[in-house]
Amino acid sequence: MKKRVGLLYGGKSAEHEVSLSTATAVSKAIDYDKYEVHPIFITLNGQWLRGPQLTKPVDSIEQLQFKRDNNSPNNITEFILDNNSQAEFDVVFPLLHGTNGEDGTVQGLLEVLNFPYVGNGVLASAAGMDKVTMKQLFSVAGLKQVPYIHFLRKEWNESSKEIIDKCEAELGWPMFVKPANLGSSVGISKATNSGELVKAIEIALQYDRKIIVEQGLTAREIEMGVLGNDDPRVSVAGEIKPMTDFYDYDSKYKDGSTALIIPAEISTDVESAMRDMAIRAFKILDCSGLVRSDFFVTANNEVYINEINTMPGFTPVSMYPLLWQHTDVSYPQLIDQLIELAIERHTEKQ
Ligand code: ATP
Ligand code: MG
Ligand code: MG
Ligand code: MG
Repeated sequence: MKKRVGLLYGGKSAEHEVSLSTATAVSKAIDYDKYEVHPIFITLNGQWLRGPQLTKPVDSIEQLQFKRDNNSPNNITEFILDNNSQAEFDVVFPLLHGTNGEDGTVQGLLEVLNFPYVGNGVLASAAGMDKVTMKQLFSVAGLKQVPYIHFLRKEWNESSKEIIDKCEAELGWPMFVKPANLGSSVGISKATNSGELVKAIEIALQYDRKIIVEQGLTAREIEMGVLGNDDPRVSVAGEIKPMTDFYDYDSKYKDGSTALIIPAEISTDVESAMRDMAIRAFKILDCSGLVRSDFFVTANNEVYINEINTMPGFTPVSMYPLLWQHTDVSYPQLIDQLIELAIERHTEKQ
């Protein structure tokens, strides 16, 4: 019997568009002989809509929005359970990035509904989405990271001068300012002086009430994929070479100028340090399914962990699937394995 897969995409997040391209790509690669594919689209306003069952690849999943049933129920549970309260899917594949998708909220909903779902659970998703919590856990795991400070909007409003002074005293220029809970470089700016720092903080505050300021490194950016549950595997490493000043939103998705070099040219020592750190990061956050670990490697081969992503970019030209393709897992195989891991994890929990 075919497995019924609920493909959950879109979402109330700054990474909505990215999710649409991922869902389109998955619709092109998934094996329709093995799976029944049921699109579930979350609009930018957070409304859940059901699309028609997919039986073949679609050119653009956005087209499905227009075919939606206007009588779609708004009640989410009604929506994924049939009239007899039976689950309509065997597994849900959340292709959501950022808040309300990659951060444990949707995962919590799927837990409550008792669905197997692809990827990380509530704890890993939530901890991985908050860069401050993630860094605190990394430090418990003894992972090397850049110095940083963090603060809330309220603290900024009350004492911006003290915060700027603290950044200057504790961190070196340049600095990177980030909303604590986001991805795809949305809201991130580089600051090279205190005037730019103030501007960068005000930009980041448009996205989050919690801000992190990091010391900027001059380093290569190298990433690794992790795949599995309790006994995860690590992929080959891949290097990102953006043509822009840093790996910002446009260089990720728009201008196509970023070079991905797979496998990265690194020494075996650097590679084994990264493998070890990638696994330790995966374990300290209690991850499952998939994670992309992002590292900085300096000219004298010091390895720093930057972050992990619990739902990394997942189109066939994204780093995570490419890393596995260069290791030994094709894109369609990756989709299969992730679905199997989701079911394994669900069974393991019972
Ligand atoms: P994504 O989830 O898409 O990987 P993100 O929004 O979580 O991105 P980061 O990966 O933390 O953001 O940062 C985005 C980019 O900014 C990095 O890939 C890198 O180019 C640059 N960057 C971030 N922090 C630093 C730092 N401390 N030093 C140097 N460059 C940095
Ligand atoms: Mg990230
Ligand atoms: Mg991300
Ligand atoms: Mg990153």
